Amino acid sequence: MMEIPVLFSIFEIEESLGVEEAPLKDMLRGTGLRYTKQRGEVLQLFREHDTALTQAELEKMLPSQFDRITLYRILRSFEASGLLHKVLDDSGTTRFALCRTGCSEHEHHDEHVHFRCSSCSKTLCLPEVAIPDVKLPKGYVFGDAKLLIDGICPECVISSN
Ligand SMILES: [Zn+2]
Ligand SMILES: [Zn+2]
Ligand SMILES: [Zn+2]
Repeated sequence: MMEIPVLFSIFEIEESLGVEEAPLKDMLRGTGLRYTKQRGEVLQLFREHDTALTQAELEKMLPSQFDRITLYRILRSFEASGLLHKVLDDSGTTRFALCRTGCSEHEHHDEHVHFRCSSCSKTLCLPEVAIPDVKLPKGYVFGDAKLLIDGICPECVISSN
């Protein structure tokens, strides 16, 4: 079945990705999303960073003609298809991080702790640290759990010395 590319500008055709596209295509295909240059560019940025990224940070790293609405839609579609999960903090900033294996269009499994540097705001997944099971009072139904550790990242520790 053909997907109609109504959401994408002509730039995705003209723009050269300049990176190995095959792994990106495979990642997208695994989620059922069609490969486009723009989706590939956004995904590549997440692969190059081990931290969670905000839309504003992504905008700075993407080519200047990459429009905001397209980026917004790409992030939402990646989240909906199990490629990215949201990382929230008390400042209300939304960051996105790559999902590990096991997330899909139907279900995310990102019940891990996140770390945020209180100096530079660098935020990363701690996939090996699971959020503990919390027994709720009788009658309460579990929905979702988020656990954010605040601290100082190694770069900021060094620069403060
Ligand atoms: Zn996920
Ligand atoms: Zn830091
Ligand atoms: Zn995470």
